[in-house]
Amino acid sequence: MRASDLRSGVERLGGMIAESKVIVPFTGAGISTECGIPDFRSPGGLWTRNRPIPYDEFVASQDARDEAWRRRFAMEPTFAAARPGRGHRALAALYKAGKIPAIITQNIDNLHQNSGFAAEHVIELHGNTTYARCIGCGEHYGLAWVKERMDATSYAPDCPACGEPVKTATISFGQAMPEDAMQRADQLARNCDLFLAIGSSLVVWPAAGFPMLAKRCGARLVIINNEPTDQDALADLVIQHDIGETLGPFVGN
Ligand code: NAD
Repeated sequence: MRASDLRSGVERLGGMIAESKVIVPFTGAGISTECGIPDFRSPGGLWTRNRPIPYDEFVASQDARDEAWRRRFAMEPTFAAARPGRGHRALAALYKAGKIPAIITQNIDNLHQNSGFAAEHVIELHGNTTYARCIGCGEHYGLAWVKERMDATSYAPDCPACGEPVKTATISFGQAMPEDAMQRADQLARNCDLFLAIGSSLVVWPAAGFPMLAKRCGARLVIINNEPTDQDALADLVIQHDIGETLGPFVGN
C-alpha cells in the first residue's frame, strides 16, 4: 500500500520497525545518490553515459579491460569523496541497536561498512569496487597497484601470480553471482519479519528476487524508492520519496 505522503510513510515505517525483531535491509544505488555516487538508470545515471562492459568482453579483450579500468579511475574521485548518507546512517543505527543482523546490498561502494556495519555483516551481491581481484586465482590487489601498472604501461595489468586479468572485485553482467553471498541473502530473506527494499529499481535479477522471497516467507515488505517498482503491488508499505528524507528521522544521535 502506498503511503499518501512522506509524513504518514515515516510514521508507519516507525511503527513497523518498533514491532519487528529481525529487520533485513536490501539496498540499491538509490541510497548512495545523496553521497554523490550516481545510480545506473536515473537521468544522468551511469548507463546514460557508458554502456556496461559485459564480463565475457572483459575477459576476451585487452581493449575492454583498459577501458573498464580507465572508467574506474575516472570515477575514483567520486568514490573516494563519498561518505555515508542519512540512509546508511539510519540503517547503521538499527544495526547497532541489534534490530538488523546483516544487510544485503547491490552496491559496490563500501558505504555500509563505512557507516559502521562489520564487513562480515554486509552481504555484497555485486561485489565491491574499492579493491581489485584476479579473475583466475582470486588474489586481491589494491587499486593503487593497478593504477601504477596502468600508468607505467597504459595497459590493464594481469595477475603476476597466475597471468589472468585483474578486475575490480565487482560482479559484471554475465558473471556468475557469488554463491556464498546468494546463500546468506536467501537465509536472511527467509528469516526476517521486516524486509526493507531501499533505493533499488528491482530490475536486476537474481538480486530482485529477495524482496518477494521475504514476503512469501512471511515478512512484511517495505519499498522505499522515488519511482515505482514492479514489486510495489506486493509491498505492505511503499514510500515513494527521497531516501535521505525518509530515513533521516531514524539516524538518531
Ligand atoms: P538502479 O540504478 O537500477 O536503481 C536505483 C533506484 O533508486 C532508481 O529507481 C532511482 O529512481 C532510485 N533513487 C535514486 N536516488 C534516490 C533517492 N535519493 N531517493 C529515493 N530513490 C532514489 O540501481 P540498483 O537497483 O541498485 O541496480 C543497479 C546496479 O548498479 C546494482 O547492481 C549495483 O551493483 C550497481 N550500482 C551500484 C552503485 C553503488 O554502489 N552506489 C551505483 C550505481 C550502480
